[in-house]
Amino acid sequence: MTLNRRTFLGAAGVAAAGLSAPMVLAQGRPRVVVVGGGAGGATAARYIAKDSKGEIDVTLIEPSRTYYTCFFSNLYLGGFQELSDIAHSYGTLAADYGINVVHDWAIGVDRDAKTVSLAGGGSVPYDKLILSPGIDFVDGAVEGWDVSAQNKMPHAYKAGSQTELLKAQIMAMPEGGTFAMVAPPNPYRCPPGPYERVSMVAHVLKANNPTAKIIVADPKPKFSKMALFQEGWANHYEGMVDWIGEDFGGGNVSVNPDAMTVTIDGEETKVDVCNVIPAMKAGRIVEMAGVTEGNWAPVNAADMSSKADPDIYVLGDASQQGDMPKSGFSANSQAKVCANAVRGALTGSKVFPAKFSNTCWSLIDTDDGVKVGATYEATPEKIAKVDGFISQTGEDADLRKATYEESLGWYAGITSDMFG
Ligand SMILES: Cc1cc2nc3c(=O)[nH]c(=O)nc-3n(C[C@H](O)[C@H](O)[C@H](O)COP(=O)(O)OP(=O)(O)OC[C@H]3O[C@@H](n4cnc5c(N)ncnc54)[C@H](O)[C@@H]3O)c2cc1C
Repeated sequence: MTLNRRTFLGAAGVAAAGLSAPMVLAQGRPRVVVVGGGAGGATAARYIAKDSKGEIDVTLIEPSRTYYTCFFSNLYLGGFQELSDIAHSYGTLAADYGINVVHDWAIGVDRDAKTVSLAGGGSVPYDKLILSPGIDFVDGAVEGWDVSAQNKMPHAYKAGSQTELLKAQIMAMPEGGTFAMVAPPNPYRCPPGPYERVSMVAHVLKANNPTAKIIVADPKPKFSKMALFQEGWANHYEGMVDWIGEDFGGGNVSVNPDAMTVTIDGEETKVDVCNVIPAMKAGRIVEMAGVTEGNWAPVNAADMSSKADPDIYVLGDASQQGDMPKSGFSANSQAKVCANAVRGALTGSKVFPAKFSNTCWSLIDTDDGVKVGATYEATPEKIAKVDGFISQTGEDADLRKATYEESLGWYAGITSDMFG
């Protein structure tokens, strides 16, 4: 249901007239603040506003006016999407759902006063706070690299200008040049993401610069959909991709952004482009709220509430939830469970048992799509995997094309689920 301004104000009036849950009567409209307008936060804000029909006051704090999805950003690198295809605004959430969209950084959480402070000054009160800030990088994770070097050696693990920069660097590579990737250790956002990226970089280089080479230094002995990617690289990009795993020193890496060199297990190589994807941790605001343990925020699987504070919920990449991968699909799925639970807690509406699902599609070459996915349930310990599926090596071209087309439908669906 779309909530326009009239129904929104009307619903608020109903609450004020006393036809709503007792908690609403006692305190006026309960307030939910959501920090982060990405896959988790935008979905949670939209579902709470939509389903509460104005009974809950929803504020979304997000610094960017345009959200570029990381999902499909690799397809932009490969020339399958335009940057404008992966850009989304918050206008519909404000206009049609009555969400108070504040373009600012949250810089602190006072859990006693129940307020979130903003970089621009002032603070926003909450009854329930949902944190979905995504990831930040672990300082010193790759020797020689920090965020001050991201212009020379982009991470492109937050989409937008970083993704554009990486693409410009790939297109400017000299003939026969070298693209290097420093892959991250587990856990990180989008397990197949680096390897889909390798495929998409190989795709553009094969067309524009076929003697170019790709080196991947990886601290892991294996990776998501490994057999599928390696089969695809051999089929489409023979001899182009050199993956150096943990066994061959792929984790023993340093970089020199000024000299544009990468040293892998003692061997220095001059490169033309270096995509450094460092180890990750929960977005800093989660740590500032005091709900992290180590790098991530432990949550209760039934509703995504923080194990440290029942009035704070942590969604998506920042959460430590159990078996789900750090993906946009996962964040969106968790957000719907959380929205239902928050609405129930604030208005007494029915709360349904938590169910979660995820699929991660990856494009290897034109019309050659593969996928891995699973369903999950909430247990007292964690979000636990129930069953799963994965594409097989040697599948026929029609099935691979259908898998890619399925991913296009998924993208249209999830972005409208997030932004209305
Ligand atoms: C290359 C790549 C490819 C990917 N492909 C896929 C894919 O095909 N399918 C898939 O499902 N997932 C994919 N992902 C993963 C997916 O993008 C993330 O898992 C998902 O975006 C996580 O959602 P989130 O809500 O946790 O964080 P995000 O979507 O990153 O949203 C976080 C938001 O919080 C905001 N924020 C951060 N700190 C603050 C603060 N202090 N105050 C206010 N706002 C703040 C940020 O500006 C950001 O908009 C991919 C990721 C990458 C990098």
